[in-house]
Amino acid sequence: MSEMQQYVEDVLALVKRRDPDQKEFQDVVKEVLTSILPVLEKNPKYKANKILERIVEPERIVQFRVPWTDDKGEIHVNRGFRVQANSAIGPYKGGLRFHPSVNLSILKFLAFEQVFKNSLTTLPIGGGKGGSDFDPKGKSDAEVMRFCQSFMTELRRHIGSMVDTPAGDIGVGGREIGYLFGQYKRLQNEFDAAVLTGKGISYGGSLARTEATGYGLLYFTKAMVEAAGDTLQGKTVVVSGSGNVAIYAIEKAQEFGAKVVTCSDSNGYVYDPEGIDLALVKQIKEVERGRIKEYAERRPSATYTEGCRGVWSVKCDIAFPCATQGEINLDEAKTLIANGCKVLAEGANMPSTLEAIDYYLESKILFGPAKAANAGGVAVSALEMSQNSERLHWTFEEVDERLKGIMNTIFQNAKKRAEEYGVPGNLVAGANIHAFLHVADTMIAHGLV
Ligand code: NDP
Repeated sequence: MSEMQQYVEDVLALVKRRDPDQKEFQDVVKEVLTSILPVLEKNPKYKANKILERIVEPERIVQFRVPWTDDKGEIHVNRGFRVQANSAIGPYKGGLRFHPSVNLSILKFLAFEQVFKNSLTTLPIGGGKGGSDFDPKGKSDAEVMRFCQSFMTELRRHIGSMVDTPAGDIGVGGREIGYLFGQYKRLQNEFDAAVLTGKGISYGGSLARTEATGYGLLYFTKAMVEAAGDTLQGKTVVVSGSGNVAIYAIEKAQEFGAKVVTCSDSNGYVYDPEGIDLALVKQIKEVERGRIKEYAERRPSATYTEGCRGVWSVKCDIAFPCATQGEINLDEAKTLIANGCKVLAEGANMPSTLEAIDYYLESKILFGPAKAANAGGVAVSALEMSQNSERLHWTFEEVDERLKGIMNTIFQNAKKRAEEYGVPGNLVAGANIHAFLHVADTMIAHGLV
């Protein structure tokens, strides 16, 4: 074992020893640190400056109590968190997630991932993530509002447009951002628009933010597929999820001439061999806040299957996991590839297990890892902040053009770094290396802080 391999092993052991229960966090640290080994071997300064030990330790973590009352007057108490992982290249930025599965391991994994993703966007944003184990599902608007107000009453002490600028994530959409922003504005007595992104268009939101992650995923995939001499035209596509990312990934995939045949929610998936009717999905999920099962009830060509994981058994050329972490394991990866899948790009954060990712790389399919392929959302969030600072609104086309440019740059940089460091075609390593160099060199420039 080389000195640098030993260094990586030692840091991984340290992470495990400190937080033995944080499996998601350990996995993402392992993925990143093992893939940047070629950089460490070439540049002993990162070990000398203890960059790995520093980068795996969030700069700050805040955990707080969130009491609120439901419509019947009953009191509930949830947990709120904000993980401020790294501010070397800009104020912390990353989403808030409201979901019963939220815990510190998941938020630390997401915040760590966010540091690298934000670095890839080329924009001046550090990494963070936060949220709560509150479940907005089945709650009335008034309950969600009271929860958001209580959450923000504490969170506001720790954020600000030059400090930390949260955005949405699972369970936090336009409605929640509106309530959070309203409470922030009231308590701070200032209209600091750039403190939160994903805002409504009427109070500082950016056009194309809603579409950004899904569209960005497709811009990235198009660049990746075209670099390999192919196109998206006529390809059969499997998508999981039916939330924000999935919907706009489907929209752009269809625009590029591909045929999307599935989408899902946490209960099950629909298969529509005639191609997903996106207007119907939007009606069910965005307007009625219903279940995907209803799609099959209203569309004769579609079938519904209980259990969301079966979606990976549907034959396809391209797969876009857009639901949640850990949704593709090794067996599911093997099924996809055995059925002819040649391209997989991640819309969700860490949807593939480490074993599944190793299998994609071994099988030499075109693989776009989450932190590169889904960076479009945070990129447009940063563009939202730019517009807030300018007190201007850009047109949809202007934002979309910039998004396209950013996603192409992310692909090109990851590809170039992979070649430079002797692992051509491995965009996991390429993206991690490119992002790491930017953050680590800036950390060294700032001295020991
Ligand atoms: P939404 O809440 O809008 O949608 C999530 C979708 O995934 C829903 O269809 C949901 O179904 C489904 N889902 C949730 N949990 C599970 C599960 N355990 N198994 C199967 N399906 C599940 O979230 P987004 O679309 O915004 O986010 C999806 C993913 O993309 C997340 O990993 C998020 O971190 C990531 N991401 C989002 C960005 C954004 O801009 N929104 C940016 C970058 C990454 P149900 O309705 O049943 O819960």
